[in-house]
Amino acid sequence: MFLLSQLREEQPFAVTTLTQAIEGERRHHAYLFAGPLEASANNLVMAMAGSLLCTDRRGSDACGTCAGCRKLAGKNHPDLVHLQPDEKGNLSIDTIRQLANRLSLRATEADTKIAIIEHADAMKPPAQNALLKTLEEPPGPTCFLLTTTRIRTLLPTIRSRCQTVRLAPKKRAGAWRVLAEAGIDPEIAQRLAALVGPDVDRAQELVDKGAGEIIAALSGILTLDVPIPTIMNAAADLGGDKERADLAFALLEVDIRDRLARAHGAIGASYSEQAGTDLPVSHLCNGAAQLQTIRRYQAVNLNRTMALETVLLAVTGHVTPTRSMA
Ligand SMILES: [Zn+2]
Repeated sequence: MFLLSQLREEQPFAVTTLTQAIEGERRHHAYLFAGPLEASANNLVMAMAGSLLCTDRRGSDACGTCAGCRKLAGKNHPDLVHLQPDEKGNLSIDTIRQLANRLSLRATEADTKIAIIEHADAMKPPAQNALLKTLEEPPGPTCFLLTTTRIRTLLPTIRSRCQTVRLAPKKRAGAWRVLAEAGIDPEIAQRLAALVGPDVDRAQELVDKGAGEIIAALSGILTLDVPIPTIMNAAADLGGDKERADLAFALLEVDIRDRLARAHGAIGASYSEQAGTDLPVSHLCNGAAQLQTIRRYQAVNLNRTMALETVLLAVTGHVTPTRSMA
């Protein structure tokens, strides 16, 4: 059995939120634990349930020995309902309806009932809608603890009724594998991991915004013999829309950084295995310097197309940057 205090090092933000909720009695009635690591979320949920069901709490930690703690450990606490997806990975609408019935019984031993819903994303929209009613008007004092690794598959109405607790990734290494396992193309996942770590939802958002296409466009341009009109066309295309241009700048930065790392033999430091090295270091440095300048001017009105053009021309060696971006 985990105690909240034992999880502080791994998930400092989440544990602070939860201990404040428990000790300050300002508890939200529903928490949604969202993050790439299932195990982290489950440990936190069980620690939180322990703190709420314990009748002899030490600060925000469960005591581990009272009747409440023993029943939680024995998985037979009468005030806890713990839902997990069935063998088909589904949380059915019937299961959610049964949850509502079970919550309608009064808490007998703790001062609140607890409903744990693991993998809340296993609920299809009708099941989520069924949960919504219970979530809005629980029959009695109830604390809902939901976990998900794919928060975007939850209806906005569910999300807005929960306090979201974002879980930190355990470590950055291997982040791209988490994204790749979630179905993102490995080559794209490697670049996106540099920007969002193992956050599948944010990575998927970037994919939806065209990250894959931007990566392909950039790798087509970043060669020594690319003609200037090709660069200008690409800059006009990528720079037209602000969100797209921001993403292009971010991906360009990752690309240049990776190429520099590889050029200096620091292969382990690069995010992508595919980053080419055919551009001379001096060009890469010029491009990186231009990107720095752009960052400085980002607050003022920047001509995105021109800015992209300048960086791309510098990286490919067509110009040695001297002109001002302002
Ligand atoms: Zn206890």
